[in-house]
Amino acid sequence: MVSKMELNNRQEHILQIVKDNGPITGEQIAERLNLTRATLRPDLAILTMAGYLDARPRVGYFYSGKTGTQLLTENLKKILVRNYQSIPVVVNENVSVYDAIVTMFLEDVGTLFVIDEHTHLVGVLSRKDLLRASIGKQELNSIPVNIIMTRMPNITTCEKDDLLIDVAKSLIEKQIDAVPVVNMTENGDLEVTGRITKTNVTKAFVALAEDL
Ligand code: ADP
Repeated sequence: MVSKMELNNRQEHILQIVKDNGPITGEQIAERLNLTRATLRPDLAILTMAGYLDARPRVGYFYSGKTGTQLLTENLKKILVRNYQSIPVVVNENVSVYDAIVTMFLEDVGTLFVIDEHTHLVGVLSRKDLLRASIGKQELNSIPVNIIMTRMPNITTCEKDDLLIDVAKSLIEKQIDAVPVVNMTENGDLEVTGRITKTNVTKAFVALAEDL
């Protein structure tokens, strides 16, 4: 069950003691469990970081009263794009469709971001964009990618301090696999600094279930 972090027996026991007796000091919890304060410290740290317990200096630990779902939501809203972004793979708008296909294979990505001569974002190329161009009769070596790419201003982007959950929502809404992480220059141009894909979101999802 994802909504309640998997606590070990000792952590469950500590939680129960604090629920029944809080506020209670670490020392007192240790006594009840016949353990040393040092042995207990990692478990208390985990329970506090995950939000189950609150700690107040010179008062002790008390039960936060938050449900698993509340804690999950709170922790989800701490995950930012910059915590999970990957390195972007970019191609110049003048490269051929053929070269873009080769780049996609060599770099092992599903989406390429297209930049102009000033390295500003101008387009996006997906696998299907390249497949579509390939099943036509065109000469793949002579068509530049800027003919077939999805272009600005129709590109969905995100910034490094955005919430990952919001990017995940736009991946679903727009039915796309990847979003470039951009930095806007003073002139309003976009520099590509990263990449968020469905894989990054999946990694965050798994980490959330395992850590919390
Ligand atoms: P595929 O087409 O390989 O399934 P996507 O679902 O990511 O991959 O792409 C669907 C279409 O949306 C493609 O035409 C692609 O150019 C476009 N696209 C992909 N990513 C974005 C983005 N971040 N913003 C706007 N359009 C995008």
